[in-house]
Amino acid sequence: MPDEIYDIIIVGTGPAGLGAAYELIESRPALKILMVDKARICSGGLFNDCKQNYTFPIGFTREYWRKSEAEEMLAKVESHLQPEILPTGSLDTYRQRAARIGVDIVSVRQAHVGTDRSKKLIQRLLAGLAEAGVEIRLQTKVADIDESDRAGTVIVDGEEIMARKLVVAPGRKGFSFLQGIMEKLGIAYVDNVVDVGIRLETRQKRYPIVADYYDPKIYFPDNVRTFCTNSGHARVIRERYHDFYLINGHALSQEQTSNDLVNLALLKTIHLKDPVRSGQQMGIFLGRLANEIGGGQPLMQRVGDFRLGKRSKEESFTGDLYDFPPTCRVTAGDLGLAVPAKIMRHLWAAMKKLDSVVPGILHPGTIMYYPEIKMYANKPVFRDNYFRASRHLYMIGDGAGTSRGITGAWASGIRAARGILREI
Ligand SMILES: Cc1cc2nc3c(=O)[nH]c(=O)nc-3n(C[C@H](O)[C@H](O)[C@H](O)COP(=O)(O)OP(=O)(O)OC[C@H]3O[C@@H](n4cnc5c(N)ncnc54)[C@H](O)[C@@H]3O)c2cc1C
Repeated sequence: MPDEIYDIIIVGTGPAGLGAAYELIESRPALKILMVDKARICSGGLFNDCKQNYTFPIGFTREYWRKSEAEEMLAKVESHLQPEILPTGSLDTYRQRAARIGVDIVSVRQAHVGTDRSKKLIQRLLAGLAEAGVEIRLQTKVADIDESDRAGTVIVDGEEIMARKLVVAPGRKGFSFLQGIMEKLGIAYVDNVVDVGIRLETRQKRYPIVADYYDPKIYFPDNVRTFCTNSGHARVIRERYHDFYLINGHALSQEQTSNDLVNLALLKTIHLKDPVRSGQQMGIFLGRLANEIGGGQPLMQRVGDFRLGKRSKEESFTGDLYDFPPTCRVTAGDLGLAVPAKIMRHLWAAMKKLDSVVPGILHPGTIMYYPEIKMYANKPVFRDNYFRASRHLYMIGDGAGTSRGITGAWASGIRAARGILREI
């Protein structure tokens, strides 16, 4: 029988876990809290790029959030992350063009830390918790979770550690872990949404809106939107996901020399209905297919080749279409072979509209990378408004589908903490 009993154990030190920890310890400093993370440092967006959005609904999942509640929590998130809000220039011309073609540009209060500076922010946040008495164990993987009538248990290195309440926030990469727990504990879940898209990379002068709006949130018909725009010293990256790679992007802070490139994702949200039910499985299937066609790598294609219906070859990156070298060297190929036709049609229609709003993005040298897929699956069927998934267990953050970004994840931590505070 485990002898050590905490009040709360939080699995994951990403923004969701941090949000819960701060809310708990600030409300009741005597609480005995343990945070556990398998990584050496928080992973995900708090570490990479760290753009913070302070306008609802960016970063929130609408089904769980009301505007007034999100705004109250965003003020709290802001007080901890202490962002330097970026100025927004005039968007009038872009807005007028957008309105004519059914496109919406949403203004968002934003801050950008940059991958080179985010480590300091994370260290400050963890140090603040340690000072307040929260115990933090990094490089410690939680292998399993269990629950009895009395308490929850996490299993770490063969050791069972008990707590009155558990908060599980393992992020998007942790959703297989979450799924395992839900199946074991009989927690019903819904898994019906997936975002499938491409990442565009072009010269900054061909996407000048970023000078006025760092990460423009632009919404197109057919559930397509821009996502995670990076400029300054911006790079496209590969992310390992199980046995294949997905595409993502990030940028260094404004203090670093610019490479004059921009990258942004165009994502289409797909809501699956019966009989197909798993957004996660669909995402994995599409990701594997793209990597199969790319010989174990994602694909890249110049817009010029795509328009001609030709695959890109090595010459597309040295010959006529050469404009700038790709920051992420993956396989030159044909996106048309890998992206389902309906998705490609909607993405391409959005690219054409985007080019009408911000002329330049359809330059033949622009690179389209695929697959950029966001799997938000496995949303537990919550028992209450505080993200309680079972008797002593709360599931929050991107992995549990309660958020879609740093600030929303932090807010979901606050909400779970408030639920716990009501109970203990
Ligand atoms: C490359 C990249 C760039 C991004 N850029 C941005 C951005 O600029 N702005 C933005 O708003 N969002 C961005 N995001 C999304 C952002 O990362 C997420 O929305 C946010 O981090 C979700 O927070 P979370 O706490 O739910 O999960 P995470 O931040 O992923 O944290 C989960 C933590 O749990 C730990 N963990 C998982 N499983 C276990 C286990 N079994 N045992 C112990 N620990 C475990 C992980 O190591 C991790 O530290 C980006 C994501 C990526 C991948």
